[in-house]
Amino acid sequence: MTSQASPLLMHDYTPQAKVYWWTTFMMGAAVIVLSMVQVGALGPADQIQILGGLVIAALTGFFPVRIPGAKTSVAGAEIFVLLLLLLFGPAAAALAAACEAAVGSHRTSSRLTSRLGSPAMAALAMYGCGSAFTVAVSLLKSMGFQGSGMVFGMLLLATLAYFATSTLLMASLISLKQGKPLKPWAMLREHSWLALAFVGSASISGLVYMTQDAFGATAVLVAVPIIATFLTTLHLFFRQAESDERARQEKTAASERERAESSRHMAALQASEKRFHSAFTHAAVGMLLVARDGRIVQTNRAFCDQLGRDDGDLAGRDLMDIVHTDDIVKLRIEIGDLLAGTSNSFVRELRCVHGNGSTVWVASNGALFSADGTAEHCLIMQMQDVTARKLAETKLEHIAYHDGLTNLPNRSYFFRELGRAVTARRRDTSHNFAVMFLDFDRFKTINDSLGHGAGDELLKTAAKRLRHCLRPADFVARLGGDEFAILLEGATVQDEAIDLADRIQRVLMEPMRLCDSNVTTSASIGITTSAFQYTVPENVMRDADIALYRAKAQGKARYAMFDSELHVEVSEQLRMEVELRRAVEDESLTVAYQPIYDLRTKTLYGFEALARWWHPERGHVSPEQFIPLAEETGLIVPLGNRILALACAQLAEWRQCIPAARNLHVHVNVSSIQLAQRDYAAHTLEIIRASGIPCERVTLEVTESILIDRLKCALPNMRELAQHGVNISIDDFGTGYSSLSSLEDLPIGEFKIDRSFVQRLTKSKGEAVVVAILALGRSMSKNVIVEGIETLPQLEHLLQLGCERGQGFLLGRPLSAADAEILVRESAPVPWVASSRSVIAA
Ligand code: C2E
Ligand code: CA
Ligand code: CA
Repeated sequence: MTSQASPLLMHDYTPQAKVYWWTTFMMGAAVIVLSMVQVGALGPADQIQILGGLVIAALTGFFPVRIPGAKTSVAGAEIFVLLLLLLFGPAAAALAAACEAAVGSHRTSSRLTSRLGSPAMAALAMYGCGSAFTVAVSLLKSMGFQGSGMVFGMLLLATLAYFATSTLLMASLISLKQGKPLKPWAMLREHSWLALAFVGSASISGLVYMTQDAFGATAVLVAVPIIATFLTTLHLFFRQAESDERARQEKTAASERERAESSRHMAALQASEKRFHSAFTHAAVGMLLVARDGRIVQTNRAFCDQLGRDDGDLAGRDLMDIVHTDDIVKLRIEIGDLLAGTSNSFVRELRCVHGNGSTVWVASNGALFSADGTAEHCLIMQMQDVTARKLAETKLEHIAYHDGLTNLPNRSYFFRELGRAVTARRRDTSHNFAVMFLDFDRFKTINDSLGHGAGDELLKTAAKRLRHCLRPADFVARLGGDEFAILLEGATVQDEAIDLADRIQRVLMEPMRLCDSNVTTSASIGITTSAFQYTVPENVMRDADIALYRAKAQGKARYAMFDSELHVEVSEQLRMEVELRRAVEDESLTVAYQPIYDLRTKTLYGFEALARWWHPERGHVSPEQFIPLAEETGLIVPLGNRILALACAQLAEWRQCIPAARNLHVHVNVSSIQLAQRDYAAHTLEIIRASGIPCERVTLEVTESILIDRLKCALPNMRELAQHGVNISIDDFGTGYSSLSSLEDLPIGEFKIDRSFVQRLTKSKGEAVVVAILALGRSMSKNVIVEGIETLPQLEHLLQLGCERGQGFLLGRPLSAADAEILVRESAPVPWVASSRSVIAA
């Protein structure tokens, strides 16, 4: 023990406790030293016995006897301590007590203060009490009290005193350490059972002592091993008992824990069930439980609401009662898969039957579960009403796949169906199909002349008539514009298609009432069949389209079957159409200018602007070829505008730099399709104004057919143009069938006699027509102009008849803008008879 160690060892000691400890320790140590001195004074035999006693006392300290349930243990060492007291006096007993305490404290505490303090206190207590005992016994003996009974009684008293002293010595230290007031009686009471153990020990020691008294020292030698064995047995017995007790207590604690756990579990289960029930009942999504036999066990509110039914109506019913007939099989398959274990759950959109009989679309999912952990499974289904979404989808799909005007399937739908038929045919060569491609022959004319409303009516009526002609299995679609397509499937489609084409053509030719007028129309039909081993629907349509072209080329209002020859021939025309469109767009169209002369003065009157298309591969393409194509495809409108704009711009340029050009006129050809366009006049006036030339300098040449076909639509345009001073000329006059009397009221300023009459001038009939037209023009105050003058005799003949104005190869061929400009600059009268540039040029 060092002074530096003490503060560390006594960190939890109050100053008083420290003083107390040091005091008792020093006193104890002094007692031990004293005792050792006293024992040292004894004879060697006694010393050996004492040493044996000390060893036994120390050893016994290793086997404390702990009574189950008690906090402290009793070391049986007291027996030997007291025996030493009886045999050798207090010094030996004090040493034994110190040994026993040293072992005991070593066993129970690791602190040096207690390992040193305990033996010191034990020595002190024993020495004190032992000395008192020795004094008392000798006193009593001297007073004549003899016998072992007295010794026995004194020993008991001394033992009790030892118990009290040692207990108080230790308890006082604890109280001081904790700073609590010392309560001696309470302490003694608390440890009173120990006193009993001490009394027991004293009794045994007393008995051994008395036996020794009677039988000599050997009795002690016999008794010590017996006592030691007894104590060891007791130690082991109690240890066993204690461990049994601990096990029992642990078991009890475990079972209590288990009980608490299970009741907690039950409570949680109940809460969860309550929660689940509440969630089931109040869930926004419809839920139902179905028993294995297909009967509905339970439904929630949302589900009942979805189907407009109540729980009472649903419980016990077969699930399939509320499922739409068309969906029962699908649902049965899904449930069958669940029961067979091939799937864990399913998700499917179903139709259910509402309480009012209507159909409710639900997004459902289902899974099996077992209510009580047995193999008996229930089906739990969740259902979400998706009727609104489904209706919207259906509507959208309808819109996506149908034509708004006729309500027929549209191009996408047709291609889908055709794709299906093509695939079916590839899989099974006995699966035949035919496609009919139908196009109205005069739709554009009707649309332009009677307006788009009439065009729409025509399409609707035609759609109805078409549907009427077909069998339920046939499929008709509007591909766009005035194009329709029909898909026939079956074994004998080729013959059927021909029959059907005849029937359709007859039906469509029946007059239709459109915009208060009876209109007749016709359609051309191209047909192809699965015999051509198609792999994609696009090729089917391409061939049907080619056949359609053939039908049109053959004179319209007929049908044509596709054959391989057709492919080469017609695709040529298709290509040309594409190229013409490109030419119009990329401005590779040019204008040739054919001079028109005043025949009497032989001066230049103006030019006729003629469209020219120079194709990089084909070279010069004749207008006779591309103008009809442009008319058919609608390209004539942008093409016509372009020619007019070029011609006007050219004249404006000449007018600016050549004074003589100010008197010139420009004639531009206009297709009746253009003139029937609603905004044609406005558009044309805009182009003329943009060029800066006066309207009076422009003449529009329209063929006579306008007076028959599209007069109603063309007339407002003609009037508006005439009002602004634009002159209108009837081209190729005399070849049409216009009733001459109706011409008077029309806003027409000029007749252009067709060149066929010039060619036939020598024949009386030709001359008569020219004479008649000249007379008509004079009577109606219209100008008359002649075209196609190729020879001098023709010119002379026409001059003789009184023709004033004319054009032709004799007078001048169509010229490039540059060549025409030279002509403008010359501006001198043309000597026809002499070899003029123009005549030579012809
Ligand atoms: P058209 O309006 O009757 O034009 C006169 C046609 O007769 C021109 O043919 C011209 O080259 C040709 N020609 C002129 N003088 C003679 C002659 O002495 N003898 C013979 N045999 N022919 C002569 P082109 O340029 O081939 O035009 C053919 C038709 O194409 C035109 O006939 C016209 O109907 C149409 N066309 C030409 N350009 C346009 C245009 O810009 N718009 C419209 N809508 N049609 C046009
Ligand atoms: Ca012309
Ligand atoms: Ca002409």
